[in-house]
Amino acid sequence: MRIGHFWFGRQGIPTLFLNGYPVTITYLQHATKHIFGKIRNMLLENIVKEWCFFTPMYFMRIRQFVFFAILLTIAFFVFTDAADAKLPFIVRTIYFQPTNAPDVPSVKIKSLMKQTQAFYRSEMERLDYGSKTFRLETDGNGEPIIHVVQGRRPSHVYTSYQAVEPDLPNHLKNKNNIHVFFMGGMQFVKPGALGVGFPFSGGACGGIVRTATLGEGFRLSVVAHELGHAFGLYHNLKKGNFLMGHGRTELDDYEARWLDKHHYFNSIHEINAVPKIVKVHQTEHVAIRTKGVNFQEKEGVRFRIDVSSRNALHQGQILRASDTAIVGWTKGNGTTILIDVLRSDVIRDRTAYLEVMDVQGNYIIHTIQFTLPKIPQPENDVETKEKDASVSPKKKLTAIWAKLKSI
Ligand SMILES: [Zn+2]
Repeated sequence: MRIGHFWFGRQGIPTLFLNGYPVTITYLQHATKHIFGKIRNMLLENIVKEWCFFTPMYFMRIRQFVFFAILLTIAFFVFTDAADAKLPFIVRTIYFQPTNAPDVPSVKIKSLMKQTQAFYRSEMERLDYGSKTFRLETDGNGEPIIHVVQGRRPSHVYTSYQAVEPDLPNHLKNKNNIHVFFMGGMQFVKPGALGVGFPFSGGACGGIVRTATLGEGFRLSVVAHELGHAFGLYHNLKKGNFLMGHGRTELDDYEARWLDKHHYFNSIHEINAVPKIVKVHQTEHVAIRTKGVNFQEKEGVRFRIDVSSRNALHQGQILRASDTAIVGWTKGNGTTILIDVLRSDVIRDRTAYLEVMDVQGNYIIHTIQFTLPKIPQPENDVETKEKDASVSPKKKLTAIWAKLKSI
């Protein structure tokens, strides 16, 4: 094992190079904990044995020994417990090279990764979350490290992550890191897709991105969009130039708010207990009042989910299964997640996914099977109309609103 230089990366993570491979200090702390755990057990065993054969002759030696052992144990408990459950949460760059693929296009890949990191930073800043972005694995000069992995088969075989995974070395299978695979010699990473991305959640905090290196897909917006998926962002239905929607250049506020607490965007990267779903209630009918001067009332569906969480909840969002588009979101408040979505947005879906994040950045994705609620019919529609004919349209709507709310 060759121990190389030790440095603090751009993001302030102390990194040590072993055999030229960067190992963050947290890994070393885990290893230390393991070794000293063994030593501690040995010491405890010996102390028990010594006490069993206790004699006055032994007394001084044992007392010194116990004192020393206790001190040593306390010192290492303090040292190693501080590192307990801390993980690096770093985005790694990989060039996956099938047998027929060209050599690694290093300059372009490094530039895309740096641009993607800069894109997230400028959007977080624009939306008032400060100048923060995800941690990227870089060398001592701040350049992205590219792991080159040789595929054993030609490129047309690698149309899924399941096909890629068996060819990966173990250190690139860690589900607590996000791995961005630039797929060599490929124009589409699966039929019709320039890129794909998904997160691991619910205890694991990593994700997978696979993106094309030939043609259209080898560009910033594709890498940034797929990386968004790996962070737990999903499709945005709103009009506008949204990266997670039809555009390329903007994050929406609720997306930046989600990233603000995400493990990859924070230097406090502890993993605690993830939130747990306690109960998914039957959906209810609600009237949703649209914003603006010419407000309208639209039919809505209310999702109500009880959650238990060690930390306060930060954000909940519902995405529909058909196209993984976000149809509603809410800020964390108490232990019940209430999200009202437009009925028209989920009319064709019976499956949705709920994402819940706590203020420590731990999140889960939970599948919900649901049925649409019945729409209550006004009892005496005609009478209401006649009575309301004399009042202004605004008052009329307010009356209907009040009525719907009381049902
Ligand atoms: Zn997408």
